[in-house]
Amino acid sequence: MVTIGVLGLQGDLEEHVDITENALEKLSLKGEVLVVKKPEEIEGLDGLIITGGESTVFGKVSSRLNVFSTIKQLSSKKVPLFGTCAGLIVFARNVYDRVVGEINQPTLGLLNVTVSRNYFGRQRESFETDLLVPILGDKPFKGVFIRAPAIEEIGENVEILARLEDIVVAVRQENILATAFHPELTDDTRFHEYFLKIILQET
Ligand code: GLN
Repeated sequence: MVTIGVLGLQGDLEEHVDITENALEKLSLKGEVLVVKKPEEIEGLDGLIITGGESTVFGKVSSRLNVFSTIKQLSSKKVPLFGTCAGLIVFARNVYDRVVGEINQPTLGLLNVTVSRNYFGRQRESFETDLLVPILGDKPFKGVFIRAPAIEEIGENVEILARLEDIVVAVRQENILATAFHPELTDDTRFHEYFLKIILQET
């Protein structure tokens, strides 16, 4: 029995809950998926997901709710964390905005990457494209990009999982999985299954 939390600050929570439940079913795993907000709801989790949304809002709300230190404690115990889009930004060590430059927004700073917010600019604010993600097998994964960031610099222990042309768009660093796109907005459960396998330590 595993308990997965979806950090309920803002963003596409229900989609993550639904697809994680589907992934549990696909792997015939017993588990529950909860929307969590308070430090005491986060502490005992087996895995935590941070959704897409607006990363600057996450920073503000989470410092008010005091959840960043609890998430850092989880991570120090190697509890798996999964961030999509704004979630990736919240994990990143360094963040800047393509338009306004350095932004000093609060982040967890757990993932050794530099992320560029809103990387794909106006013309391509939202688009879908097939991505090759070798850890998920040969079948391409539909990348849904919505005002998406890009991973521009990669530090120690960071494994590249997917690129869009030469831009890094999915990474893993030990217990942390992060994508610039939104697997939760597809019917494809493979990224969430992979996350569950990290929880089960089967990867
Ligand atoms: N552009 C948003 C940000 O910087 C992320 C968008 C998303 O999560 N779809 O926070």
